Amino acid sequence: MTTATAPPPALTPETAARRADGTLEAFRAQLDRVAGCTRPIRLSGWSGQADTRTGEIRRTFDSATQPDGTILIPCGNRRASVCPSCSYTYAGDAWQIVHSGLTGGRGVPAEVAEHPGLFVTVTAPSFGMVHTRNAGKGRPARTCHRLSGTCPHGQPVGCWRTHDDPADPLLGQALCLACYDLTGAVLWNATAARLWKRTVDLAYRRMAAQVGMPALGYTRRDGTRRVGLRDLIRISYVKVAEGQQRALIHYHAVMRLDGFDRDNPDAWPPPPAWATGKLLAACWRWAVERAREPCPSPTGAGAHDARWGEQHDEQHIAVDGGAELDGDTTMTGRRLSPQAVGNYLAKYTTKSVADGGALDRPIRKTADLFAVLPFLNPHQAAMVKTAWTLGGRRHLEALRLRANAHQYGYRGHWLTKSRRYSTTFGACRQERRDWNRTHDSAGNPRTPLDAWNRPLENDTGDEVIALGSWRFEGAGYRLAGDAQLAAMAADLARSRREAARDARDTARPS
Ligand SMILES: [Zn+2]
Ligand SMILES: [Zn+2]
Ligand SMILES: [Zn+2]
Repeated sequence: MTTATAPPPALTPETAARRADGTLEAFRAQLDRVAGCTRPIRLSGWSGQADTRTGEIRRTFDSATQPDGTILIPCGNRRASVCPSCSYTYAGDAWQIVHSGLTGGRGVPAEVAEHPGLFVTVTAPSFGMVHTRNAGKGRPARTCHRLSGTCPHGQPVGCWRTHDDPADPLLGQALCLACYDLTGAVLWNATAARLWKRTVDLAYRRMAAQVGMPALGYTRRDGTRRVGLRDLIRISYVKVAEGQQRALIHYHAVMRLDGFDRDNPDAWPPPPAWATGKLLAACWRWAVERAREPCPSPTGAGAHDARWGEQHDEQHIAVDGGAELDGDTTMTGRRLSPQAVGNYLAKYTTKSVADGGALDRPIRKTADLFAVLPFLNPHQAAMVKTAWTLGGRRHLEALRLRANAHQYGYRGHWLTKSRRYSTTFGACRQERRDWNRTHDSAGNPRTPLDAWNRPLENDTGDEVIALGSWRFEGAGYRLAGDAQLAAMAADLARSRREAARDARDTARPS
């Protein structure tokens, strides 16, 4: 492993304070460890170990020895606009979660690569006309809306422009905000996660009907079992939410068809031969077109159903160009590689819903709301305001629209997965901690030692007990110059990580 060495600190104003009190080198080492996190947590305290046989306690670390008497803990934010460094780590973990579910690894057997896989996209329905390119990604734009006349608010109902530039700020914005169903759009966002669950359930039931068995098995009175679909298969998935320009959520997801063994529910057996990718795709499509989830009404009177938009997409995923398409002619021939799918989904997990980071944090009070609105385009501002207003209505309390106004009312997580799909963020973090414990900064293996310099096999031995006491001292950097040093450390960490990744990729047999 090659390690780029940091250039010696320049005599710049940002280093002056640390230079003066002699903490510059130690502080730079701290920044190195948190990879230049933008807004780390500062803690003071100590950690140590107790020998259970002798009762002796030894401190192994005390923050009093550190600059300012504190240690730094990375913020862990997923958004690139908040913390480029932590979001890079987050995206890497997201990639691992998606990829290991397709190819195996991280506790998932390699055989899952043989299971049928799908890459699907589901979108929100229309809540009124918005400026559009009328074209898929990478294709030339066509005229936005070819309509003449004006709406009741005196706005033209058409837009005869062609929005060539995919970054055109008009894209996604309503032609007339007064005509646009803002309330419907916010309530749809708030219902999207439940609609997804409903759709998966419906796909199971459709598949059960197709193969002629109940979705859920049951035990008959005579003790025999009526086998159901869920006794035999599982639809495992990982899904990523994306905030579209029109301030609505849509989902990209990887689905995998697994076998299921009731006697060994944690295994990943192959699915039965009849459970093909073609069957999954057909049943999923069927479910997407029909799934309905009750959506509360803005007034409390009556209710309507949330459903998906007409645009949805299903593509087969090919692992090493393996299994055939089962003669499925209903889909385009394009097949995606696990690598590409991992990159695609990981990229989305670090995106913010609005440029400039105005919506990167929850809005807590009305004053904050009005401070945020000027940084949004009129469409986004109207969506956030609508979510805030609806959130004040008692019958909608359960939707927590105020707490989620900064994500247009969407209250799900940005990456979720079914339990069996693959590994978790928590497991990825643990693996990093274990690696750091058992390797030095140059990546060479080392044996972790306890406070008495005895080899420590793991944290939970009975001979020593870990002790410690930590106190929160603040978030972010204490000195203005520190933040600038952190930005430099983040750049350096990034180039190191990219070099390491390139080295890994070239070492991998193609
Ligand atoms: Zn951070
Ligand atoms: Zn337009
Ligand atoms: Zn109008």
